[in-house]
Amino acid sequence: MKFKILEKSKDKISFLLEDTSSAYSNTLRRVMLINVPTMAIEDVEFRKNSSALYDEIIAHRLGLVTLTTDLKSYNLISECKCKGEGCARCSLKLTLKANGPKTVYASDIKSTDPKVKPVYPKTIIVKLLKDQELELEATAILGTGKEHSKWAPGHIFYKLKPEINIDNKKLNNPEAVLVSCPVDVFEMKNKKLSVNEKNLTKCHLCEACTDVSDAITLANNEQNYIFYLESWGQLSPKKIILTAIDIFNTRLSEFEKSI
Ligand code: SF4
Ligand SMILES: [Zn+2]
Repeated sequence: MKFKILEKSKDKISFLLEDTSSAYSNTLRRVMLINVPTMAIEDVEFRKNSSALYDEIIAHRLGLVTLTTDLKSYNLISECKCKGEGCARCSLKLTLKANGPKTVYASDIKSTDPKVKPVYPKTIIVKLLKDQELELEATAILGTGKEHSKWAPGHIFYKLKPEINIDNKKLNNPEAVLVSCPVDVFEMKNKKLSVNEKNLTKCHLCEACTDVSDAITLANNEQNYIFYLESWGQLSPKKIILTAIDIFNTRLSEFEKSI
């Protein structure tokens, strides 16, 4: 199997997996999405809440606040030595205290671990009017997207790598093909229609080009995949991929042992 990075930034990555199968690609996608743990608020104890929102709504909003995640320092509560009791190795206390008039942001959440804090400080939790108060203690734990999507590390999908063949002998309307493509996959080179390799990965297999000419064929090569991964910010794209591969390998070894 070959791996090639196509584009990358702080929160996003796209990469090519070649000489693999749909089974491997889909398992990798699913492991990244539902098995890579991240930190999120799971429990909230309200001391005061005179805001316009019910405790449940605020707790729900807090659960969706993405938190930077340190996988080295925390265990999944189900795998922790405390056996689910909750300890410093599997859970983290966060507090929030605010008096109105004020807009309460995620940045007002105080964390006892500087490595775990809201990814987007400007996320609004609630707006407090004059004399309204909010005071709470929250517990964040590691969890996985399998239990709840608040723990999913990002948005991950893939598509088949497009393979486009042009039969120039058969082609009598190159201009029509050129304009048919919404993502400019074709170009004219020396008066001949050709594929612009730079734009090829943008092809989403809409088949508009094959509709206007029989000289264009799209191959369905189910061995090459383009992955797109956008992190929600808890973990870097690289960490998501590497953690998923570790989990995948561990599970395969466990499977091997059990048979
Ligand atoms: S299938 Fe659609 S996106 Fe791909 S090259 Fe043809 S027209 Fe362009
Ligand atoms: Zn524990």
